[in-house]
Amino acid sequence: MIIPTGNYKDLFEERKKGGGYLAGYPLNLRASQSHELKNYSYFVDLLNNKNTTNRDSALYIHIPFCDSICTFCCFTREIAKSDKVAKYLQVLESEMCKYAKSEYIKSSKFGAVYFGGGTPTVLSADQLGNLLSYVKSNFHLTKNAEITIEASTHNFNQRKMEIAIEKGANRTSFGIQTFNDAIRKQFNLQDSSRDVINTVKIAKEIGFDIVDIDLMYNLPNQTMKDWEIDLQNAIDLGVENISFFPLHIHPNTLLGKQIESGEIPHPQTKDVEIDMYLKAVEMLTNAGYKQQHISKFVLPNTDHKYNILRLGHHDCVVCGPMANGNIGNCVYKNTKSIEKYMNMVRDGNFPIADCVRLSKEDEMRRYMIRGLGLLKVDKREFKNLFGEYPEYIFPDIFEQLIKKGLILVSENEIKLTEIGKIWGYNVCASFCSKFGRVMNIHGDMVA
Ligand code: SF4
Repeated sequence: MIIPTGNYKDLFEERKKGGGYLAGYPLNLRASQSHELKNYSYFVDLLNNKNTTNRDSALYIHIPFCDSICTFCCFTREIAKSDKVAKYLQVLESEMCKYAKSEYIKSSKFGAVYFGGGTPTVLSADQLGNLLSYVKSNFHLTKNAEITIEASTHNFNQRKMEIAIEKGANRTSFGIQTFNDAIRKQFNLQDSSRDVINTVKIAKEIGFDIVDIDLMYNLPNQTMKDWEIDLQNAIDLGVENISFFPLHIHPNTLLGKQIESGEIPHPQTKDVEIDMYLKAVEMLTNAGYKQQHISKFVLPNTDHKYNILRLGHHDCVVCGPMANGNIGNCVYKNTKSIEKYMNMVRDGNFPIADCVRLSKEDEMRRYMIRGLGLLKVDKREFKNLFGEYPEYIFPDIFEQLIKKGLILVSENEIKLTEIGKIWGYNVCASFCSKFGRVMNIHGDMVA
């Protein structure tokens, strides 16, 4: 690893902590203007025609239920109640069916499927198995399609794992956050580090091709030594993928309130957060992992396909409330409320809250944002798609980023530098339109 030199910790006032909103560019930048489309005929027209791109697509299925609430969680999710979950699954199947019957989806092939949440493993073994079977029989999956189940260690038992694998799942992603028992308790995480380790070992033994672990760093009461222990635990487990994110404190969460009242201390400074990031890069690189994404390291030949498709120039079809996806040059977001989602689907509609057809400028911006999320952009592909190299389209942004030492531009690609990776989400965000300038579904400028 190249250790950065110079004043690399003060390049931006604030270090952006995650890229969820960037994947949904430009929708989430204009969330305040989100509106339910009365008429999404352009989107429907698109689905009525064949997909002629010959590119693999990604499919995301959302399960918005959990069986306990983590104190830091700001997502929209509900405690799972069996009758509501059962009704939700029926509605979800109707939504998937609506897509699956369309010409566009019938002529699409899916290289990766991701069941996310919430916590998909709150479903019973049978519910999980049925959902997997439904997807496999109604969508054309490629021969080596990656199928991921996002999981909590405390509710992904051996029976559920066996069913999931039997029905085709080959990757699981555990939201572990930390192995530190005191912090786990503080965050309302349900099992001890010993149980977590045991479950991950079972997942590996039972036959998932890829096991992924999500960790969080710069947590209240977490020292650098604690962080090193978390990383070492993950490495010792031999998991194929490791993702890590700095804690983002949302004021409306229980943790946010506990910090505000002084019950729990603030995380440490931005400088310490950067040191923790660099420690992870050092330890994971030394252990044989390579960086695939700003926040993800993988062992050789275990790339996270869904991530690559999601952030590449591929369609991502999404089902379930609050999920956002893209088909052709349409970017769309499903309604947030579970009730509203269920009503819209029951009424025979797509549960879309916001949908735009991208302008060419926003397509180019999105390409840069997503590509740099995966650390580099292929200039030739950009030129093939848009007719010009990116540095000629965005000269001011390039000038700033090069001046700060955040990107390297060579003949064929644009890469984040080691310093650029520290500030990866800030670099990506540099390509967002300041004005959220997008066209609506009919091609009219709306902002
Ligand atoms: S499991 Fe995930 S979605 Fe559920 S409460 Fe915890 S962080 Fe939130």
